Amino acid sequence: MASELEPEVQAIDRSLLECSAEETAGKWLQATDLTREVYQHLAHYVPKIYCRGPNPFPQKEDMLAQHLLLGPMEWYLCGEDPAFGFPKLEQANKPSHLCGRVFKVGEPTYSCRDCAVDPTCVLCMECFLGSIHRDHRYRMTTSGGGGFCDCGDTEAWKEGPYCQKHELNTPEIEEEEDPLVHLSEDVIARTYNIFAIMFRYAVEILTWEKESELPADLEMVEKNDTYYCMLFNDEVHTYEQVIYTLQKAVNCTQKEAIGFATTVDRDGRRSVRYGDFQHCEQAKSVIVRNTSRQTKPLKVQVMHSSIVAHQNFGLKLLSWLGSIIGYSDGLRRILCQVGLQEGPDGENSSLVDRLMLNDSKLWKGARSVYHQLFMSSLLMDLKYKKLFAVRFAKNYERLQSDYVTDDHDREFSIADLSVQIFTVPSLARMLITQENLMTIIIKAFMGHLRHRDAQGRFQFERYTALQAFKFRRVQSLILDLKYVLISKPTEWTDDLRQKFLEGFDAFLELLKCMQGMDPITRQVGQHIEMEPEWEAAFTLQMKLTHVISMMQDWCALDEKVLIEAYKKCLAVLMQCHGGFTDGEQPITLSICGHSVETIRYCVSQEKVSIHLPVSRLLAGLHVLLSKSEVAYKFPELLPLSELSPPMLIEHPLRCLVLCAQVHAGMWRRNGFSLVNQIYYYHNVKCRREMFDKDIVMLQTGVSMMDPNHFLMIMLSRFELYQIFSTPDYGKRFSSEITHKDVVQQNNTLIEEMLYLIIMLVGERFSPGVGQVNATDEIKREIIHQLSIKPMAHSELVKSLPEDENKETGMESVIEAVAHFKKPGLTGRGMYELKPECAKEFNLYFYHFSRAEQSKAEEAQRKLKRQNREDTALPPPVLPPFCPLFASLVNILQSDVMLCIMRTILQWAVEHNGYAWSESMLQRVLHLIGMALQEEKQHLDSVTEEHVVTFTFTQKISKPGEAPNNSPSILAMLETLQNAPYLDVHKDMIRWILKTFNAIKKRRESSSTSPVAETEGTIMEESSRDKDKAERKRKAEIARLRREKIMAQMSEMQRHFIDENKELFQQTLELDASASAVLDNSPVVSDMTLTALGPAQTQVPEQRQFVTCILCQEEQEVKVESKAMVLAAFVQRSTVLSKNRSKFIHDPEKYDPLFMHPDLSCGTHTGSCGHIMHAHCWQRYFDSVQAKEQRRQQRLRLHTSYDVENGEFLCPLCECLSNTVIPLLLPPRNIFNGLNISDQPKLTQWIRTISQQIKALQVLRKEESTPNTASSKNSENMDELQLPEGFRPDFHPKNPYSESIKEMLTTFGTATFKVGLKVHPNEEDPRVPIMCWGSCAYTIQSIERILSDEDKPLFGPLPCRLDDCLRSLTRFAAAHWTVASLSVVQTHFCKLFASLVPDDSHGDLPCILDIDMFHLLVGLVLAFPALQCQDFSGISLGTGDLHIFHLVTMAHIVQILLTSCTEENGMEQENPAGEEESAVLALYKTLHQCTGSALKETPSGWHLWRNVKNGIMPFLKCSALFFHYLNGVPSPPEIQVSGTSHFEHLCNYLSLPNNLICLFQENSEITKLLIESWCHHIEVKRYLEGERDAISYPRESNKLIDLPEDYSSLINQASNFSCPKSGGDKSRAPTLCLVCGTLLCSQSYCCQTELEGEDVGACTAHTYSCGSGVGIFLRVRECQVLFLAGKTKGCFYSPPYLDDYGETDQGLRRGNPLHLCKERFKKIQKLWHQHSITEEIGHAQEANQTLVGIDWQHL
Ligand SMILES: [Zn+2]
Ligand SMILES: [Zn+2]
Ligand SMILES: [Zn+2]
Ligand SMILES: [Zn+2]
Ligand SMILES: [Zn+2]
Ligand SMILES: [Zn+2]
Ligand SMILES: [Zn+2]
Repeated sequence: MASELEPEVQAIDRSLLECSAEETAGKWLQATDLTREVYQHLAHYVPKIYCRGPNPFPQKEDMLAQHLLLGPMEWYLCGEDPAFGFPKLEQANKPSHLCGRVFKVGEPTYSCRDCAVDPTCVLCMECFLGSIHRDHRYRMTTSGGGGFCDCGDTEAWKEGPYCQKHELNTPEIEEEEDPLVHLSEDVIARTYNIFAIMFRYAVEILTWEKESELPADLEMVEKNDTYYCMLFNDEVHTYEQVIYTLQKAVNCTQKEAIGFATTVDRDGRRSVRYGDFQHCEQAKSVIVRNTSRQTKPLKVQVMHSSIVAHQNFGLKLLSWLGSIIGYSDGLRRILCQVGLQEGPDGENSSLVDRLMLNDSKLWKGARSVYHQLFMSSLLMDLKYKKLFAVRFAKNYERLQSDYVTDDHDREFSIADLSVQIFTVPSLARMLITQENLMTIIIKAFMGHLRHRDAQGRFQFERYTALQAFKFRRVQSLILDLKYVLISKPTEWTDDLRQKFLEGFDAFLELLKCMQGMDPITRQVGQHIEMEPEWEAAFTLQMKLTHVISMMQDWCALDEKVLIEAYKKCLAVLMQCHGGFTDGEQPITLSICGHSVETIRYCVSQEKVSIHLPVSRLLAGLHVLLSKSEVAYKFPELLPLSELSPPMLIEHPLRCLVLCAQVHAGMWRRNGFSLVNQIYYYHNVKCRREMFDKDIVMLQTGVSMMDPNHFLMIMLSRFELYQIFSTPDYGKRFSSEITHKDVVQQNNTLIEEMLYLIIMLVGERFSPGVGQVNATDEIKREIIHQLSIKPMAHSELVKSLPEDENKETGMESVIEAVAHFKKPGLTGRGMYELKPECAKEFNLYFYHFSRAEQSKAEEAQRKLKRQNREDTALPPPVLPPFCPLFASLVNILQSDVMLCIMRTILQWAVEHNGYAWSESMLQRVLHLIGMALQEEKQHLDSVTEEHVVTFTFTQKISKPGEAPNNSPSILAMLETLQNAPYLDVHKDMIRWILKTFNAIKKRRESSSTSPVAETEGTIMEESSRDKDKAERKRKAEIARLRREKIMAQMSEMQRHFIDENKELFQQTLELDASASAVLDNSPVVSDMTLTALGPAQTQVPEQRQFVTCILCQEEQEVKVESKAMVLAAFVQRSTVLSKNRSKFIHDPEKYDPLFMHPDLSCGTHTGSCGHIMHAHCWQRYFDSVQAKEQRRQQRLRLHTSYDVENGEFLCPLCECLSNTVIPLLLPPRNIFNGLNISDQPKLTQWIRTISQQIKALQVLRKEESTPNTASSKNSENMDELQLPEGFRPDFHPKNPYSESIKEMLTTFGTATFKVGLKVHPNEEDPRVPIMCWGSCAYTIQSIERILSDEDKPLFGPLPCRLDDCLRSLTRFAAAHWTVASLSVVQTHFCKLFASLVPDDSHGDLPCILDIDMFHLLVGLVLAFPALQCQDFSGISLGTGDLHIFHLVTMAHIVQILLTSCTEENGMEQENPAGEEESAVLALYKTLHQCTGSALKETPSGWHLWRNVKNGIMPFLKCSALFFHYLNGVPSPPEIQVSGTSHFEHLCNYLSLPNNLICLFQENSEITKLLIESWCHHIEVKRYLEGERDAISYPRESNKLIDLPEDYSSLINQASNFSCPKSGGDKSRAPTLCLVCGTLLCSQSYCCQTELEGEDVGACTAHTYSCGSGVGIFLRVRECQVLFLAGKTKGCFYSPPYLDDYGETDQGLRRGNPLHLCKERFKKIQKLWHQHSITEEIGHAQEANQTLVGIDWQHL
């Protein structure tokens, strides 16, 4: 051990290490006063080990601490060498069946939705995978840190509490056994001693508050003047403020300041200066001064180094204790005992108490260490967990108020431990009964909200910032209350009843403070000046919603409790309303001979409040009573007699009237705050305990009073009493037409009132109100949501209320009411309503918003029309009411109701002006429909002896009474049926009349009570039937007519095709060619097509006409005409890269002539294929530029494209572009006029070219050494014999027009600039190279895409690709005409020399390091520069052919050298054929030339197969290249996919099928060439294994493999720590999908400098991995991120879907996510096609907010 430490320890005082742990422990064992002994030891050594300088040195400190401080303790505890002692303890231990794993930040956690007792019960990944829950419905989240795995806790799970691993440890005996029995007495005693001392020491020192003085027993003899200036964390100051301040205060660099700030943020404190007191004090004052301008200065302390030392050791000690107790449950129990033992000062003096009570004074790091210790000790021991829970509850109020004023987030507060304690059902129950926890929590909460109004209600108006802060924090107490209530008792004891009701009392006190809060008064005249504060009250209501529901759930479980609670609630409500009639005058209302007493109160004039939680709680309890058994059997036992229905309904009614008036526009001047409140009142988050309960309360009231009375009070509150109580009021009212606004207002109010009545009668789907169960309720909600439109799972979930466990109950019923439709490549899975559920649709469903209602109405009518039904939407059949509510239905047949109906129908019949509305009528019709449905149901369910008391049909048949003698309702309906202005409602009226007649018939047949016969009904019936029949007939005729026309049309079409067969075929072909290769059309009749060489198939010249998208003019593409251009986008690419670590360091000096076969960085050109005149484009671009400049000056707005870099959007399709490609005719035809039959063979040709090259080189040399030695010059001239017909002084004339030449230069320069990332310079000799390279690279990338997708090489390519490749190839071939001839010649010579060596080029790459296709393209396209001076008659075509053959040969050698090494086990199929023996021979030659370094000959069959496979991509690329260069159509065989087409390719490319023949035919030169290639030093090195080489065929790059289950990615990321800040967890781990690197994104720690700017880890990575383009997965957010350059980016939908076919960006829902391979392939395809940048452009154009995101810091 000692030797290992040696180098580390060098610098340290050697004496420290000489001290032996064993000896020290021995001394302690003898000690009489152990505490004193140990303290002396610590006082002596701790300051020597810790805090010896400005910077912490944790490794060294830890090592010494272990040796000198912890070692002796371990020896003492074990009584022997701990290396033996601890394993012994571990063995004797019976391991726990609890997992207890403490979660790291970002670690995945799982909760089972079926089995978890509440959503806070979670499993770690390992336990989850080994549990039964993995097959259940589960939810996955990422932990925010803290909290632990609940595996093994039987109270947390309804089923399957153990995973496989922890199952093994379950105790056989139920009885909990004392873990101390496994330890010896001695060990127990010693452990107790040492734990007691050390734990006390740690607590004492951590809670020590003096800054320069130690506790007396730790004080040192001599004390030096060394201090730390300690900076503490708070949540007020930002990172930037801290960094800025530090740089000023302690004179550090920005890097150091970032380091300090990061540590302060993580650990809660960090020393920022070390030195004498003065020195530190000075820094402190600067920091305080600099930050005190904000709310509160940063906390800084100057602390003596020895105090810091002891505190650091104290923390170390706590972690040590945590790890020691891991050896044995017995040790853990002892620690718990020590911790909870009461100290000398009595109450609250145990060590655990002291830590908790000092929590808010400790820094973050200290807190988290001791919280963790609590979790692994106290919370893991079942016995002490209870004791600890009691301590926690006793201190609860103090801890919470500490937290409220603490400036750290809750996760760093001990108060946060409540979730671990209160959610354990047995603990919660115990704390309620023993410690009265409910009352404590509620009282503590109330204690913090002291701001009240005169009536004692909460008041949030005029809250200060501090109060608002407190209010936010105090809300966590509500969460605690929720935890306590979340598991409901299965058994009640008297004790529990009593304590619960006590808590309920406290809760009612709380609600009482809310009843009537934030009252509002209608603003008339002026608009309100300031929007009143309303959010706080609603926040409170929202947070309490679940608690209120849970209170009711608890009450529902025990009848005694329920009745008591009901009484209490009623009493409190009475108090609230005490004297609600005060000052309000009593009045008497009467209509139709009924009269009632009420008060005069106008919502529009007096105060009204939306907050009525006490009334609503009572309504909830009332429903529960209605459900209970007592209500059925002994209703007299219920406290119903004390109720005063008018009092119950008063406030809820006012609230609903307020909503109606707001809707009628009467409260406009009260501003948005009111509109928002009304919105939330109905919103799914609040309505359960607000709006819904108000409806219930009114239902309760109506069912207990005379409905006539109720309706009159209601009319009065709606301020409509006058209208309906005065006969003929309507007429007078409408004739006056005084105030149009008032009339319309009243119309709306009448509509709203009718709607309310519909709801009161129709909403009976809550169990207890109607005879339904919870499933019926949720089904109905879903049916109505889906009636609006089909919805995705998450949408549906959002529209349904969640319970306290975040469940909607939807999954259990959804299948019964909806079909699921799976998603495609985009979009989401959708639920659609089953057609049979449509009959349950209620147009006036009370949870519809107005917009939803009209959408649903429209959708349902449309559906009916599609099914050819009539479009009436009659009310659905409803379930019966519960007995307590049964009398409610009588409201429908009450006299006042009938009066209202009659009045409105009368208005409709009179149809005068705007004094009535259609929706008013529609609602009346709906009410009539409801009444008829009700009567029908009564008839159905009635038994012999009962008489049906619901006689609506009779009542509406009677005419109105005197004095107005109006006709009967029925008669009026019949009149309205034919009213032309009510067309929409005809179907509904018809339905009503039909139902009426059906009921009448039943009544006649079953009972004697006659229904008044009315005239016209029979008439009506027959006319209705007739009408219906007529409609059906017409529909049928229409259908037949349509079919006939269709038949005729297709007949005509066939004739037309027959007659114009020829014409038709042509158009068909044209259609195909539009999307296929365009120049297929010149039909070349004969069989073999040849793309190059002297035998090239001659293509008749074709004229090409194109239209400019900007000016719409057509123009022919000609050499001498104005240039036409294609919008294009050039970008650097690493898509094909085989080496991502390569990096061009100095682009200014980089020579791109030879592309390495690793293709590490290429230049790709893409185009959308849209054509413009060059000058039209120029004008367009100039205007874009001008506009952008103006815009930037004004607003500095970002755009999705970078104008300064030449970017623009295609004017037609908005595709991102940065240059244009000119359109050209095949350039070879221009130069290749003559075609002489006698052409040289390869050998001869090479000789000629070599001579020409040599001649050029001599001339070049002369030019560069002008006239110095003329004699020597002439000498050279003599030496130089110009080859025959070679005229180097000849310069050909450029055939292109000026405008084309300009475009050639433009595009060439753009390619150069982007490809090398340099400044544009059209003179640079590298411009032509970059053009050829881009052509080669683009062809290669397209060949890869086609191969990967198994598409034929010349299949139907998308138009834009085809256009792009053609233009690009022709451009590259023509570019030399605008470049310097000698430059191009030099390039040619150098390229040529790489294959045919000469003496003047020494340092050329070996053939292993050249991409042969790039070489081919370069040679072919540079060749005309040489050929144009050759008048000997050798054609261009001959040159092309020989170049091609030469490069092919080199490639074959390249393949044989690199790709034939691994011997395949497969047997040779057939005896050696011609190819096999040829290749074998060639291989032997290679073997010789390499000096036998090449491996011994494998089989010829194997070699040939490798050559064929290896060369295919090259042949395919070449075929594409020559096809576009020379315009020879492709052979039809290659246009379809299937076989490899090797022979066809060879024929097309003018190659022998046996490629090796190339070598045999040219044997004279072959040998020489092969030798020169093989003798290269690099080849030797490769064959000797000293270096690598690319082998062929190169495999396509793929995005990395992603796991099927998303949680394994989360897990992987949670183990990832920031590479720069020593083991810290990264906050935004982000995965590069290209190379699989995990990055620490969006964080200060990992910013780096790139081209002078700070950029985040992702942006930096894109530069090395994707040359600026990146594809990432943000793991915590489950979001794909595309980046391009520093400023551009977008988010893209991730390839992970849940079972409902939806993505979960942000991981908010937590449904299990699985990889969708198709979507991932789609992303890969975008990458392969180089479309990432384009995708970003489109996303940013569509969503401007994306432009503003600071992409470069991701
Ligand atoms: Zn676990
Ligand atoms: Zn487990
Ligand atoms: Zn489960
Ligand atoms: Zn134009
Ligand atoms: Zn376009
Ligand atoms: Zn990468
Ligand atoms: Zn980092």
